[in-house]
Amino acid sequence: MNSRRTFLRSAALVGAVPLASTVAPRTAAAAVPAKPDVKITAVNSYVVDRAILVEVTSDAGISGWGECAFDGGALMKTFVDDRLKKEVVGKNPFDVRRLWDTMFFENHDLGPSGALPNAIAGLDIALWDLKGRLLGQPICNLLGGKYRDKIEAYGSVPIRRGRVSVDDCVRSCMKFVEQGFKAVKVRIQIREHFMNPDPDPTFAYAAAVRKAIGPDIVLMIDANNGYSAQRAIATGRKLFERYNVTYFEDPVSDQNLVEMRDVTAALHDQDIVAGEKCYTRWQIKDLIVQGNVDIINPDVVKVGGITEMDRMATLSSCFQKPIQMHNTRPTISTAASLHCMASTPLVARFIEFPELGSTFDALMRLFHNRVKLEKGVLHLPEGPGLGLEIDGAAVRAAAARS
Ligand SMILES: [Mg+2]
Repeated sequence: MNSRRTFLRSAALVGAVPLASTVAPRTAAAAVPAKPDVKITAVNSYVVDRAILVEVTSDAGISGWGECAFDGGALMKTFVDDRLKKEVVGKNPFDVRRLWDTMFFENHDLGPSGALPNAIAGLDIALWDLKGRLLGQPICNLLGGKYRDKIEAYGSVPIRRGRVSVDDCVRSCMKFVEQGFKAVKVRIQIREHFMNPDPDPTFAYAAAVRKAIGPDIVLMIDANNGYSAQRAIATGRKLFERYNVTYFEDPVSDQNLVEMRDVTAALHDQDIVAGEKCYTRWQIKDLIVQGNVDIINPDVVKVGGITEMDRMATLSSCFQKPIQMHNTRPTISTAASLHCMASTPLVARFIEFPELGSTFDALMRLFHNRVKLEKGVLHLPEGPGLGLEIDGAAVRAAAARS
């Protein structure tokens, strides 16, 4: 392994302290106890191409990195810099759960869903990364250890409100299949048009994709809240019977859990998946108890990070509901999701993964390494914290250009 070399390179690039003082605590083999009284000295947020990144720096000369949900850009940065930073600077990063509570409840009136947990995620993931680096341990070990070290990914293809043609959608799905993915999902994004469309474009996409990928690849359809309950049930049955669609995501509004429950009860041949717009453990509790969906699907960069995701995983396990990570970001979000899924006993078969192409090239160049993706399988990163080595100087330069 060259983790020591990559750490040294990363430390030099972060440049928070002279290199020599960072060597011992940053290597797992050194086993030097972290300073028990370590303090957070700075929080910096960066809006770069296709990501909003947060760096939390400690007086041990070690930083951790996190990622906010992508929506919001400058708004997210303002939230982090003006509202959340003051709650953590000067505090001990090992108190991550208490810091999460402070960031959340001190700003609760600004909205417990959406922007607030999206922003908290950046700091929270950075705090877990920092803790792992201080201790020389991967995050999954701090979450109780791992049940698995790799997870199958499904390739996720948006049709962008119909702007992606059926042919282009098929091409994207086939790219995933050719890489070895065993499942693809088409995000129909109906709700952004109108509800209960007639004619419904869903069937044309499902038919063409199924024909192209053949019978053995799992086909998922995400209706993005697009139907009433009655239409969702009729649509789900047709998708299953004609195109063997076995995962049906957000068939109805995720704000209407009574309808979600009705749809789940009616479509017992399919797994009904929901949860990407649940931002707190209480919303996940309602989704489970009232909606009773089959698979719980929260997003680590939306729910306030690893702290709240770990609580959601425990809650889901109480109800024997497998959790699967909604994940549209290929770097920090993917690594954080893998640590959460690795350390959770009951998980679904897949994790979401986006199409890379040129979309994420600029973001990928900010990292010295990337999460290993092999034949459609994502491997849990090794090394302390998230296991990703970010080029801090490149991030700062990219943010200055944005
Ligand atoms: Mg979705």
